Amino acid sequence: MRRSRAFIPTTKEAPSDATLPSHQFLVRGGFINQQGSGLYNFLPLGKIVLEKIRAIVKEELDKAGCNEVQLSFITPMSLWQRSGRSQTMGKEMLRIKDRHENSFVLSPTNEEAIVELVKNRVTSYKDLPINLYQINTKFRDEARPRYGLLRGREFLMKDGYSFHASEDDMIREFHLMQDTYKKIFTRLGLDFRVVEADSGAIGGSGSREFHVLADSGEDTLVVCESCEYGANIETLYEDEKKIEELKERSYEDLQTQDLDDRCSCGAKLSFKKGIEVGHIFQLGTKYSKALEANFNDENGRAKAFEMATFGIGVSRLVAAVIEQNHDKDGCVWTKSTTPYMVNILVSNIKDDEQVKLGEDLYSKLLDSSVEVILDDRKERFGFKMKDAELIGFVYTIIIGKELSNGIVEIYDRKTKVKTSVEASNVFAKIM
Ligand code: ATP
Ligand code: MG
Ligand code: MG
Ligand code: MG
Repeated sequence: MRRSRAFIPTTKEAPSDATLPSHQFLVRGGFINQQGSGLYNFLPLGKIVLEKIRAIVKEELDKAGCNEVQLSFITPMSLWQRSGRSQTMGKEMLRIKDRHENSFVLSPTNEEAIVELVKNRVTSYKDLPINLYQINTKFRDEARPRYGLLRGREFLMKDGYSFHASEDDMIREFHLMQDTYKKIFTRLGLDFRVVEADSGAIGGSGSREFHVLADSGEDTLVVCESCEYGANIETLYEDEKKIEELKERSYEDLQTQDLDDRCSCGAKLSFKKGIEVGHIFQLGTKYSKALEANFNDENGRAKAFEMATFGIGVSRLVAAVIEQNHDKDGCVWTKSTTPYMVNILVSNIKDDEQVKLGEDLYSKLLDSSVEVILDDRKERFGFKMKDAELIGFVYTIIIGKELSNGIVEIYDRKTKVKTSVEASNVFAKIM
């Protein structure tokens, strides 16, 4: 992409309600813009990042044997009546009517729809297990949409559902998905924790949340300083008042609080703040029973499917990456999420030698399938550099005055270190 042709409307000002770095930098960097309360447009850079995350999620799920589908976003109210959730979902579920006065729902999640899809199509234990997922729009009329993409009303979620002949097999899949999610978040370059989560009526170890550790996270966690153990305080404590009190305290404040309990491994526990980016849940037969979705077991007896459900906040992840990776100047994308790996900055567009090297490098990198953007705008060096900092490309190749001595610089956004290299060598260095 040539920057002179790109639609990247960067700005100095952040919206007044943007209190978190990810919200400020994603808007200022021209990744997203707000359309309405909790509603966001993805501009070209935001769309690239979103698609990169989506692709990693898809790759790992497909490797683990999941099938991608796409369900209709709008679902008939009758489905939600049959499961009973038309009564229990409350105001987060947005209801609409068509011209014939038929009621529909903007799907906040899709258990009912997926059970309906599988019902009468998967009829024998021989067809099981099966794991179906989609990466699709969700709508939740959140009481407090805020923090930009972290808590939108319309957002992109990966939601997966698995069907099994036995509880044991469902638990096997649950562990497989837990491992798959770990691979996904590791590939995204995130520092995360898998924690025990509130599993409501199901109880036990039936639910795990995946949290990106960030001071600004809305969830409060207790994690072990030595082993992998972690839990959401909502699971750990029964006292609602204590939970509310802990939730309201900032990350810094929580560090002054001693935890009396120790981990079962013997090491110290500490408080952390987390952004919930994934949630996996053993459902059992709750929805299959409610919607009368059965299969025939080995003895020809009708049995309700054992189910599990698996969610990832794909659009929330765009912001979570930045909550964890930014500095005062802007975004610091990880290598797997950066909108472009290399930004070629031609300092003086009137200098023919600089332009020639820029163009030359640009086409060579393109030919080698490197994600590259050429900043060929008629702007001052300082202005272009500020933009590169704000957007957060992993590398910027600065082609400047030193080119007359055959030297250019490679700027590393994360470390902010500039390395001088011979112009003839820069391509090899980047590759
Ligand atoms: P939260 O506790 O943040 O409200 P949730 O527990 O209600 O999330 P789930 O029903 O577990 O969410 O949905 C699966 C995933 O979808 C979540 O782990 C989260 O990453 C994402 N998600 C949920 N609500 C939103 C939202 N309003 N905006 C963006 N992503 C969301
Ligand atoms: Mg919620
Ligand atoms: Mg939650
Ligand atoms: Mg959840």
